[in-house]
Amino acid sequence: MTDSSDYQRLRSHLAFLRMTAAAEALPGLLDEATKANLGNQAFLERLLAVEVDATDERRKASLARFASLPSPFTLADFDFSAQPSVDPKLIAELASLRFVEDTTNILLIGPPGVGKTMLAVGLGHAAVAAGMRVYYTTAAELAARCHRAALEGRWATTMRFYAGPRLLIVDEVGYLPLPAEAAAALFQVVSQRYLKGSIALTTNLGIASWGKIFNGDPMVAGALLDRLLHRSVVVNIDGDSYRMRSHRARAEATRRAVASS
Ligand code: ADP
Ligand code: MG
Repeated sequence: MTDSSDYQRLRSHLAFLRMTAAAEALPGLLDEATKANLGNQAFLERLLAVEVDATDERRKASLARFASLPSPFTLADFDFSAQPSVDPKLIAELASLRFVEDTTNILLIGPPGVGKTMLAVGLGHAAVAAGMRVYYTTAAELAARCHRAALEGRWATTMRFYAGPRLLIVDEVGYLPLPAEAAAALFQVVSQRYLKGSIALTTNLGIASWGKIFNGDPMVAGALLDRLLHRSVVVNIDGDSYRMRSHRARAEATRRAVASS
């Protein structure tokens, strides 16, 4: 590589292969290689490692954008002492992402504010970091998107979209009753992913009350739950809302401050 025409050809190979990070690093690495008396293999390894790292970073950034996770909180931010009904060992096991490997679904059930979304999103971040395709949606968004798709003749494409990610997070099922059309859409999404990809679903309604979500259509509710629960981990969270907790703690601190002044 002492010859300048070799160098020019190498630059143009890297440009042709769109290995821009390696192309940028080339002059510096060549200098280093000469100074440290690096062998061919060691030099080539370093050059390719630069491109591999850059590609990996781009891929992760693109996965993170696609995932549309609504908050930056990871599982490490979850305060287990505030939520004794959540078993840290179970969450650690889920964080290993084995559940995605064997297409197990996760149902997070509990009243508002107990950390269902935070846990689902934390698992989403873990999966993205592991290089998995993840997509977050609320049940209401999913219903609205499917409704538009039906009107615009894009139903099949939209169903393929929801079948694609390794992990699909469906947040807030049950906060609003789903009209029949939306229930059918959710049912189809769940059916298509059955044994092919994991769903992490959060809901404020216990399984026994799922008939309500489906506007008294127990058939759809039953068939959907069958598929969802066949291979699943159910995380029941009870206890106080974390928001209310910190609100109460602030209010209490204010009261004490006022009382002591
Ligand atoms: P849910 O989805 O069950 O309604 P969220 O996950 O949205 O509840 O949690 C409500 C708020 O409280 C969020 O800001 C969340 O980050 C925070 N939160 C809830 N539980 C915890 C916890 N155990 N540790 C830290 N923050 C929590
Ligand atoms: Mg939530």
